[in-house]
Amino acid sequence: MNEKEKIDSRQELKARLEFFRDLGVEFLVSPRKKAGKSQTAAVESPLLIAGGFSGGPATADSEEWERLIRKIMSCQACPLFKGRTQAVPGEGNRQAKLMFVGEAPGRDEDLQGRPFVGRAGQLLTKIIQAMGFSRDQVYIANVIKCRPPENRTPRPDEVKACSPYLLRQIELIKPRVIVALGKVATDFLLQSPKSMSELRGNFGEFQGIPVMPTFHPSYLVRNEGNKEIKKMVWEDMKKVLKLLES
Ligand code: SF4
Repeated sequence: MNEKEKIDSRQELKARLEFFRDLGVEFLVSPRKKAGKSQTAAVESPLLIAGGFSGGPATADSEEWERLIRKIMSCQACPLFKGRTQAVPGEGNRQAKLMFVGEAPGRDEDLQGRPFVGRAGQLLTKIIQAMGFSRDQVYIANVIKCRPPENRTPRPDEVKACSPYLLRQIELIKPRVIVALGKVATDFLLQSPKSMSELRGNFGEFQGIPVMPTFHPSYLVRNEGNKEIKKMVWEDMKKVLKLLES
């Protein structure tokens, strides 16, 4: 590593620590440390079961996954297909115990074909890291797989057309906990007439799976200086960690 890379790396570490401090994180657990010295995080993380990451050996499930992804990529079941660069099915560990569900791809996600890679995505990555995990230890998906024009909120008919894909993903992954990021995901999973502020921070349930509704990372980005909101999200994530470790 040359001198410039060392400085960049120190600056990134400083920014990350400042972010964790804003979250109210009292200490950090690296995935390796959490997994034990002689093992990799992929083996002992509570988020994983045998079988490894999405690129594991071919099974009936992996064939089902490939079929599902192909279907999503060529889907024209709602008008959103017309404006997409590509659909964004989701990514991560297909046997993860923890799943994050957001609303829909934005511009960066539409261009890259990956969920949560823009500014909000970078924030979500930091939250996952603050929990002691990496992105490839969890599964990240959206309710809607194609970008709505100008990032508008998806319409009910679009949610209805697209939701079978998310439902199948949840069935295949069988996560132990789902984190619903923002109102669209929370409304879809919990089907509750209550507001986001009433639901946030308390476990609900989707088909027997505990669901923790919390703020969407883009809301945190829009309220960047508001440490209280970050702390609320971190409190929600601590509840998720506690449940995963129980
Ligand atoms: S948003 Fe969903 S239902 Fe609509 S075209 Fe894309 S994949 Fe199909």
